[in-house]
Order: sequence, then C-alpha cells, then structure tokens
Amino acid sequence: MPEGPEIRRAADEVEKAIIGLPVREIWFAFPSLQHYEEVLTGARIERVDTKGKAMLIRFDNGYTIYSHNQLYGKWYVRSSYNYPSTNRQLRLAIHNEKKSALLLDQSFIAGIGNYLRSEILFVAGINPAARPIDCTEEQLKKAAEATISLVKQSYKTGGITNDVKLAESLKKKGQKRSAYRHWVFNREGEACRIDGTPILKVQAASRRLYYCPTCQK
Ligand SMILES: [Zn+2]
Repeated sequence: MPEGPEIRRAADEVEKAIIGLPVREIWFAFPSLQHYEEVLTGARIERVDTKGKAMLIRFDNGYTIYSHNQLYGKWYVRSSYNYPSTNRQLRLAIHNEKKSALLLDQSFIAGIGNYLRSEILFVAGINPAARPIDCTEEQLKKAAEATISLVKQSYKTGGITNDVKLAESLKKKGQKRSAYRHWVFNREGEACRIDGTPILKVQAASRRLYYCPTCQK
C-alpha cells in the first residue's frame, strides 16, 4: 500500500507524463463518471497533488480527479496507448499525444487466500452466492473494511482471522489452533460462533467456501 513518499513519487511520474499537453482522450471504467469524459477531453492538466494516499489531478477547466489506490491499485505510465499486459483491470486512462497514464486495479478480493475469502464474506455478512451487484452499499463497505482488517490481523497473528480475544480465550480453554483459528473456514458442521447455526461448505470454481446460512443470508 503506497504511503506518503511512495504516493508522491507515483504522482511525480504521472504528472511528468500528463502535464501541459491537452488530453486527447480520457476513459473511466465507472459508468457514473463516463459523462465527464467529454468535459475533460481537450483540457490540460496543471498539476497532480497528493493528499494522504490519494492523488488529485487538477485540470485547467477547474475539474479535479480524486483517485485512491486503496490496497491494490497501481498507476502505470506508458507511451501513448501502449497498454501493459496484466491481469489487472483498467479503472482510468488519460491519454495525450505522447503518454498514457493508466490506473489499474486487481479485481475485488482477487489473489486472496482461500481462508480469507470465506472469513471476509462472513465478517461482512455476505452470502457466498451473492455477486457484488446483489450487495448493499453497506455490505460492500463492510467487505472492503474486513478485507483490510483481516489481512492485517492475519499477518500480525500468523493466520488467525477469528476475533482475537475469542481465539485467546478458546486457546486458554485448551482448544487446538485449528479449532479457534477461524470464524467459518474449515468448520463445516460446527456451530457458528455468533448464533450456533451449523456452518455449511460450498464448492465455487474449485474453491472451498464456508459460511453461516443465518449470518450470511
Ligand atoms: Zn451465524
């Protein structure tokens, strides 16, 4: 995750590529932003500011694009229209005659270990069959927060994604690590730690997913 100096370095690189020359084409992945493509085409970029981990691209017609890399986003600066071959998804592209600045992102929860996938969905209260479009804003927000907090916690604790205090008390009671480590993963038929419902296991695209049918309706 880029922090202060890293984001400034990235901003310097983007700024150098896109400042001055008029924007030949701009492309947004998000449909809600696409009507700005026309507004920003032909405009010039005056500078690129950073604020915390965000980048602010200032246009000479008064508009600013605010972008945040979150955990998995990355800016690529390339010669004009020279797209890199990558599994990442394009979110934003700014082209001028010489250069393209591209914001690429890994897809949601891609590249995350099997156990984290199940654990994140449980913490966010999302049914494993749900697509992102089926989720409420609140659920997506919870999933984003759980992704960050569980990845951090798992790193710090060596793989414990269960509530840390609960895991500690279960450990004191003599439970094995495999029994206290997770909320739902590898716990098929065991009682949900919240409401006692037996945990179910499903197979999705050759991946095992575990969930509580009550907490994750
Ligand atoms: Zn439950």
